[in-house]
Amino acid sequence: MSFVIRCLDCGHAAPFTPNSMQCPKCNSQWREAEYDLNEVNKTFPSELANRAFDLWRYRELLPIHNPNPTLRLGEGGTPLIQAANLGNMLGLPNLYIKDERQGPTSSFKDRQAAVTIATLKEAGITEMVAASTGNVAIAYSAYAARAGIKLWAFVTSLVPGVKMREIALYGSQVVKITGSYDQAKKIAAEFALQRGLYQDMGARTITAVEAMKTIAFEIAEQFTQLNGGAKDSKWKTPDWYIQAVSGGMGPLGVYKGFLELKKLGLIDRIPAIVPIQADGCSPMVDGWRKGLAKAEPVLSPSTRIETLATGDPGRTYTMLRQRVIETNGVFESVSDEDAFRAMHVLAKLEGISAEPAAGVAFAGLFKLVRSGVIKPSDSVVVNCTGHTLPAEQFLFGDNWTRDVNLSEQFAQADTPQEGLLAALNNVTPSRFPRVAVVDDSGEARRLIRRILQSQGDFEIFEAVDGRDAINLINKEHPDIVILDLMMPEMDGFAVLDVLRGNPKTANIPVIVATAKELTVNEKSRLQGQIQSLMQKGDFLNDEFLQEVRALIG
Ligand SMILES: *Cc1c(COP(=O)(O)O)cnc(C)c1O
Ligand SMILES: [Zn+2]
Repeated sequence: MSFVIRCLDCGHAAPFTPNSMQCPKCNSQWREAEYDLNEVNKTFPSELANRAFDLWRYRELLPIHNPNPTLRLGEGGTPLIQAANLGNMLGLPNLYIKDERQGPTSSFKDRQAAVTIATLKEAGITEMVAASTGNVAIAYSAYAARAGIKLWAFVTSLVPGVKMREIALYGSQVVKITGSYDQAKKIAAEFALQRGLYQDMGARTITAVEAMKTIAFEIAEQFTQLNGGAKDSKWKTPDWYIQAVSGGMGPLGVYKGFLELKKLGLIDRIPAIVPIQADGCSPMVDGWRKGLAKAEPVLSPSTRIETLATGDPGRTYTMLRQRVIETNGVFESVSDEDAFRAMHVLAKLEGISAEPAAGVAFAGLFKLVRSGVIKPSDSVVVNCTGHTLPAEQFLFGDNWTRDVNLSEQFAQADTPQEGLLAALNNVTPSRFPRVAVVDDSGEARRLIRRILQSQGDFEIFEAVDGRDAINLINKEHPDIVILDLMMPEMDGFAVLDVLRGNPKTANIPVIVATAKELTVNEKSRLQGQIQSLMQKGDFLNDEFLQEVRALIG
């Protein structure tokens, strides 16, 4: 497929590199994927009939070259369900629910994680940071686990324990911030910057917005099918798209998806976009009501629906407002109680148990029908955004999160920036144990990295052969070396001789990892030279990690 990344501020077009997060010309972080639609038209939509109903069926319109099939968990392709009972109650016969609970981790964030992790994997990235009100981190954790990418998840202490455990279950590091979600985002950004790590940036993450487009593509295909099929090769669209919003990335992507279908000539009309917020954190709705193009941040969100607690939507609101105006949509807000009631009604009438955040969208629907904004003859799709599953409470011992209390840090600091940095020092020690992994097999190196990363915090360096290992070890001074013996040219025995012969490296502990039975002669060569000998198959048990820890501890 052919596409460029277009800067929304200066118009500069650049190729897509997932780990460069700003415009190379003006440094703006607001950019968008732009596809060569003539090129897309050659295979899309004609090829769709031959493809599975999942997110990757729209690959011409996704920013990835070779999606890796081994990372997939069945993302996208969720059903569009006609809600006859609820429609009956509301006097709205054309009511549909896009059931995003049916994604791999039960929220629509699976799309964002699937596409983003696929591009990161393609770019060789092995560690990343995400701030989350829960579901983003859960979705990223699942895909990161599959891809062997280590995830640092910054969540606020208000995120329900069940969600935090779910994040930890996948082996991600949970950093619990006692503070607002906006503060957690700032800390995560600083942490990522200091350590040079890839960071999810919400609506500024190109892959995230692109992933959300697939909701629009699916709705258009499914709505067409449920309403008599395509006519004159045109797809049909509903009148309204309703979604509960926090940062607003979902509707931004959904709009872009419909817009691309329109540019391709597949649809005539983009549905009216309706973002719904919780009353206790509704900066977009407040801005909308006051006629402001820029939202005033809510500094202390007061909703129990933590998933929707973005107090400062920044530019996303400004962009979303334009889309809402253009499509004749509307912003609306509802109380927590209304959302809980709507959840209950949805479950009782339609057999769909959703989480409170999704309840917000349904409460918004009820309000707009009651006030006459949505008419009985209108067709409506509500995004049932999620219902994440709880992980077993007794799965973990204590201390599986890192806790940072911002109010304490800020009370002691002179400036907010100082408070932030002081807080960050609590997240991690400034230095992690440094591990050099020497193995000529990429697969073996990845396995060791994955085992280490899932169990703790290590700074990991890789060398692909003996000579590379010597250079690396002299340069990085690791605390420990994990060394393969059988490598072409300079093997592990030779590496050991060089290391032990140099006073600077003579005392670095070495764990030898070997795939084969050693001869008596080989064993005697290692005698006194190494700290531990491991069969490669033994890596998966705790012994390996205990050994590593003991040697660096
Ligand atoms: C993230 C999330 C939302 C809000 O989505 P945005 O489009 O990013 O504002 C709504 N519901 C659920 C279940 C979510 O996880
Ligand atoms: Zn630019």
